[in-house]
Amino acid sequence: TIDREARKRLFETVARRVIASADELTDLDRAIGDGDHGANMKRGFEAVLAAVDDLSARTLGESLKGVGTTLVMRVGGASGPLYGTLFMSLGKSLTDEVTREQAAEAFATAIEAVKARGKSDIGQKTMLDVLLPVARVLREGGDDITTRLKATAREAAERTIPMRAIRGRASFLGDRSIGHMDPGARSSALIVDAVVEVME
Ligand code: ADP
Ligand code: MG
Ligand code: MG
Repeated sequence: TIDREARKRLFETVARRVIASADELTDLDRAIGDGDHGANMKRGFEAVLAAVDDLSARTLGESLKGVGTTLVMRVGGASGPLYGTLFMSLGKSLTDEVTREQAAEAFATAIEAVKARGKSDIGQKTMLDVLLPVARVLREGGDDITTRLKATAREAAERTIPMRAIRGRASFLGDRSIGHMDPGARSSALIVDAVVEVME
């Protein structure tokens, strides 16, 4: 059961991880974007942190919807509506009694919503290049799932380095987007890592 205390720990851990990584995300976005991904995400997750008691007092579903709404309102840029969509969609189906199978199904559905919103898919050098492989591992389940989820997230973000961006600002660079990690892929990996650590 993901009770109030667990929800609070979850949101705080994710928010603190993102906030602590703002400089790294900004550096990545400076290389192939407009250098604001760290600031965008920091602003959004500071708002989550400020509202964490309110948010975690609701059911898991309602609290995730609240996180999503906060991110849409506060992150801005391309990533705000996409992360907002991800969390809001998760909130629609997850309950406090969530099982791994239900989480996997909800995550897959939420990713479809992000794809629709971003008109994007795997292989385009975006956050989806981390989210989709993670969803696959979550669906498979099995031994050492937490270790594998974290390794998958990290490796998937690294695999965006040789990719050429075909969505988002980085796509304006064409071939010059090659050789840099996608900032949104990195922030997704950080979020996955933090979520998995709380669930361990
Ligand atoms: P902006 O590009 O508007 O400044 P951010 O810097 O906050 O917004 O976020 C950029 C990140 O958003 C990219 O690194 C990428 O992962 C993600 N992104 C951008 N466009 C899309 C899209 N259409 N689909 C999926 N992810 C996207
Ligand atoms: Mg940017
Ligand atoms: Mg921007």
